[in-house]
Amino acid sequence: MASPEARRSPACGPADSFAERRARMVETQICARGVQDPRVLAAMARVPREAFVPELTRQLAYDDSPLPIGCDQTISQPYIVAVMIEALQLKGGERVLEIGAGSGYAAAVLAEIAGTVVTIERVAALAERARTTLADLSIRNVEVREGDGSRGCRERAPFDAIVVAAGGPQVPDSLKAQLATGGRLVMPVGADQLTQKLVRVTRAADGQFVTEDLTDVRFVPLIGAEGWSAADVEPTGAPQ
Ligand code: SAM
Repeated sequence: MASPEARRSPACGPADSFAERRARMVETQICARGVQDPRVLAAMARVPREAFVPELTRQLAYDDSPLPIGCDQTISQPYIVAVMIEALQLKGGERVLEIGAGSGYAAAVLAEIAGTVVTIERVAALAERARTTLADLSIRNVEVREGDGSRGCRERAPFDAIVVAAGGPQVPDSLKAQLATGGRLVMPVGADQLTQKLVRVTRAADGQFVTEDLTDVRFVPLIGAEGWSAADVEPTGAPQ
């Protein structure tokens, strides 16, 4: 993993001003709203979000909101990233699968805690940019793959944790099948494409899946064989 020095902000503003904003973001947007896991807070305090947003909006990197990253997609609000990663209950060293790499930011946060992260992105240009950004930051324990992640990644399964950063009509069976015993999957699920419930599915020792509702969220759609069909996707404004 890269040293904090190696992960300094890009040369588009004073590095400590981004560092100060990042520290403030953790305190006011994340801690203050109840995220407590010290691993998640430390990871959010280390990863430079400004490196994952387009140059034109870099000054907004620590705003309390999702931001456009091109190709009609967004980098999620920092608080939601923290909530989803905390819900995975990572202790360190796990094998994690993320669906919806987008900018690569959440994968970078996951990589601070987990052993290895595989992240899948269906939009080729985003996958390529995420790969470049992660390489520039010397983050070496993330593999960015391009394709339909709604079917998961059988050749790297099982995973201790799976996080889906896009909303689907149900939890894909393929993803459930790729969870290790005791593994957790966190995903936005909704019968329409406008709003979802964030759910956590745990694979119990007896092979049963236990589902918990966590909170209401609004994500871009999961488009793929076990998500929404691309032809049915409706414009949804500016969700996560
Ligand atoms: N985690 C991202 C980050 O940190 O920037 C934000 C993800 S964005 C909210 C959701 C992403 O899911 C989009 O980039 C979208 O292209 C991607 N996506 C949607 N359906 C997908 C699928 N079936 N497989 C892989 N990626 C998908």
